[in-house]
Amino acid sequence: MTESANPFESLQSQIDDAAAHLEIGDDVLDRLKHPERVLETNLTVELDDGTLERFKAFRSQFNGDRGPYKGGIRYHPGVTRDEVKALSGWMAYKCAVVNIPYGGGKGGIVIDPADYSESELERITRAFATELRPFIGEDRDIPAPDVNTGQREMNWIKDTYETLENTTEPGVITGKALESGGSEGRVEATGRSTMLATREAYDYLGRDIEGATVAVQGYGNAGWIAANLLEELGASVVAVSDSSGAIYAEDGFDTAAVKTFKNETGTVSGYEGADESFSNEDLLTLEVDVLIPAALENAIDEDLAHDVEADLIVEAANGPLTPGADDVLAERDVYVIPDILANAGGVTVSYFEWVQNRQRFYWSEERVNDELETMIVNAFDELTSAYEANDLENFRTAAYVVAMQRVVNAFEEGGTFP
Ligand code: GLU
Repeated sequence: MTESANPFESLQSQIDDAAAHLEIGDDVLDRLKHPERVLETNLTVELDDGTLERFKAFRSQFNGDRGPYKGGIRYHPGVTRDEVKALSGWMAYKCAVVNIPYGGGKGGIVIDPADYSESELERITRAFATELRPFIGEDRDIPAPDVNTGQREMNWIKDTYETLENTTEPGVITGKALESGGSEGRVEATGRSTMLATREAYDYLGRDIEGATVAVQGYGNAGWIAANLLEELGASVVAVSDSSGAIYAEDGFDTAAVKTFKNETGTVSGYEGADESFSNEDLLTLEVDVLIPAALENAIDEDLAHDVEADLIVEAANGPLTPGADDVLAERDVYVIPDILANAGGVTVSYFEWVQNRQRFYWSEERVNDELETMIVNAFDELTSAYEANDLENFRTAAYVVAMQRVVNAFEEGGTFP
């Protein structure tokens, strides 16, 4: 992290940038900038050695005008109330930009999961699920995976909820394993939309993705799948990284081999096919065609933005650019495909999972991927139309113009109560 920008202030500044191009009263704008409610809770959990530990946890329900709150749960020592509030707002506008019938939510536990055993993590997760139980439900608020959580945690949350409610309700949570009611294609969906957004941007800019050089910061679920699918399209993934550092290969990596190495050793560092290794910061300023931040918030701040060499950034992570970085990049004519579109594949396939859960009828992987492609391509076209029609400074503001208008329409149609 290069700068400790407060993510909630970043969200609010992105909303203000778009509001300047919309006819929204200050009273409604104020609503669009704040969560409806935030649950803050302390979980008391017994560890394997019999002692107790307290874990702070949050769930922010940002906006429910377009449907139930929707968004992941992250386990990270850096989780804060403001971070969760920001992430829940990004979810609300993400769901609106791809036009799926959800509001936005997000949750998190302040924890480094690497420090705990599997049975401790299960108890911690079930304790959080118990706290969440009155707030969630398939028509109320639907959590999902985020940083450091996945199918295992989602299955535990579903089981806890269903046990306490004495029912079956798989649609209460998405990102589950297949046998627990998950969807084909969900694991790959975030990286897939990042690839689709990159492909569409290349098309829009009249460029050929074949042979384009790509650097990916972060080799988790989103980063590695984006790298792999871009390699399939003919791009050359020359640099990848994780928290251990970055590796570089002039002729491009075999991205699947790097993934196998990471699975075996825990990091990308030390991969034998690399020509060079360097820091994450060096990766972000590498001379490449496409830069994909796929880790955490605030990866690129205003200072670093001056040194970015790529002229297309596709945000697989949530909030990787500070507002200061956005301004510098727009001035330098660096295109940015914003997180709320580029990584929207995850929540879009979560939506497909929820639809399948409610219908008790499951789709093929091909159908999931086809429907996802249609939704991302349509959203990209709507974004570029708004960009051109309003002569906007960047694609992020275009995405917010589209998304905020949809939220405002839903809010105004419903009116206020009481
Ligand atoms: N955590 C993912 C995101 O930030 C997915 C959320 C979901 O599937 O609800 O978009």
